[in-house]
Amino acid sequence: PLVLGIETSCDETGVGIVRGREVLANTIASSMAEQARYGGVVPEIAARAHLEALRPTLDAALAEAGVGLGDLDAIAVTAGPGLAGALMVGVGAAKGLAAATGLPLHGVNHLVGHVTADLLHARGAEPQPEELPTVALLVSGGHTSLLLVRDLLTDVEPLGETLDDAAGEAFDKTARLLGLPYPGGPSIDAAAADGDPAAIRFPRGLSSGKDRQRHRFDFSFSGLKTAVARHVEAAGDDLRVADVAAGFREAVVDVLVTKALDACAETGVPRLLLGGGVVANRRLRDVAVQRCAAAGVALRIPPFSLCTDNGAMIAGLGARLVAAGVAPSPLGFGVDSTLPVPVVQV
Ligand code: ATP
Ligand code: MG
Ligand code: FE
Repeated sequence: PLVLGIETSCDETGVGIVRGREVLANTIASSMAEQARYGGVVPEIAARAHLEALRPTLDAALAEAGVGLGDLDAIAVTAGPGLAGALMVGVGAAKGLAAATGLPLHGVNHLVGHVTADLLHARGAEPQPEELPTVALLVSGGHTSLLLVRDLLTDVEPLGETLDDAAGEAFDKTARLLGLPYPGGPSIDAAAADGDPAAIRFPRGLSSGKDRQRHRFDFSFSGLKTAVARHVEAAGDDLRVADVAAGFREAVVDVLVTKALDACAETGVPRLLLGGGVVANRRLRDVAVQRCAAAGVALRIPPFSLCTDNGAMIAGLGARLVAAGVAPSPLGFGVDSTLPVPVVQV
């Protein structure tokens, strides 16, 4: 099926068009530059930016795919989780389009969308075999989730998530502590290149003792952030930003990869899929590649344009729902900023 996907859960306005698993268009506008002035995503600004960007992004996607609205079989839109005001812009637009065209509309789960990214392939390229079950680690500015995916539509099980900050959020907040620019991920990555990751050992949250037993697959980054803040204060003028950046990055990466591989071992699933904007982190990729190879776990990392928030993954999930004969969402559906993961469609 030919499906249009709309994604507005955070600061990316994404419109994608797929034919089955083939990506015909994946157009993205981002309010990141505007958000940079505030050192984080401001929900109000994100919502307003979606409102302005949606129409041109939609037109660009249709042009790129070379299709018209009349060619589509269905529309899919992110219904949650995400920022309520931002989600509402996408859902409102999708309902308008559905009403105007008579097309069926599927309100879908953003996190399952991230998992779907791995099933998509570029225009004209050979599709890779679908490999399920898989453990999925989704790490971005808004989420840090470990999932067990046995079936995309019927069996996505949450194993754990962050109890406080998301991994990307931890990068952003820590960068601010170090006087590095937003977004913090890339700037910490750059600063860490000249640092010694072993110079300062920062805490690995929920990784030892009782915490680890109780929260085997959960994450916590607020203690790490506090440890960096204390270190910065104590170091004063002697602060070595490169070493702190390297030590911080090492702690985040270590905890993410360790817990993901623990999940593979415990579930007996020898596959790990990565998704989300933090996947841009060089060290995360390197450590994941090394440790997965050592553990005999097959690692999958979709192209970066499908790792960050995008419309193609939402369209891809919509196409799966259509192909499976799932009825569209009732038109009265609303957004759900905390939509839980087992709910694939609202
Ligand atoms: P959502 O949480 O809904 O997916 P988001 O906009 O917060 O939305 P993304 O756009 O996927 O998430 O990712 C942005 C986040 O990724 C930011 O927190 C940013 O700091 C982080 N990030 C980007 N590049 C890197 C990097 N090289 N290393 C670590 N983190 C990175
Ligand atoms: Mg973003
Ligand atoms: Fe996301």
